[in-house]
Amino acid sequence: MTLEELPEGGFTLAQTVDGLMKLPQHLCKQRGICCKVAVFKGLSSHEDLLKQANIVGEEGEMARDFASIFVPHKELDTVKKLAPDFVETVQQIAQKRGENPENVTFYACKNLLPSGRCGVHEDRPTGCRSYPIPHSRSVFHKGCGYEAQAKENWGVIMEILEAVGLADDYR
Ligand code: SF4
Repeated sequence: MTLEELPEGGFTLAQTVDGLMKLPQHLCKQRGICCKVAVFKGLSSHEDLLKQANIVGEEGEMARDFASIFVPHKELDTVKKLAPDFVETVQQIAQKRGENPENVTFYACKNLLPSGRCGVHEDRPTGCRSYPIPHSRSVFHKGCGYEAQAKENWGVIMEILEAVGLADDYR
């Protein structure tokens, strides 16, 4: 879909972007791997996460939300066995940014049931409801059902933001 192909209907650009940020739930393949191996905003160490969670107010909210359900994996080898491609991609990004790839913390959710289902599905946090977010910095697990749609939506969002001169603020 391109900017020209967007449906007409009196939506404001903000509403259109909002709609594009929400991905249809049926795309989820329900493998549970994103709850088993996760990173905070792509590349944070656990220390960074806790620092951010301590920031009072809205700025620290996302980190607090994340820290309330995710616990760090103890062994990187375990994570590599579960999601080798994800670990490699995340570590490569960290390296490109000049960060130590070994400092990236991988987490597992404490609410994930052995069956692979969410133990608090009806009450799951906002972050889980809006996951994954279409963005150039989002990293997807191999075979994630959301990936193609998220990338397509992000392309359209960027076209919109470029048209209104805001693209650089959101890259
Ligand atoms: S709360 Fe549920 S949906 Fe969210 S990460 Fe945990 S298991 Fe997954």
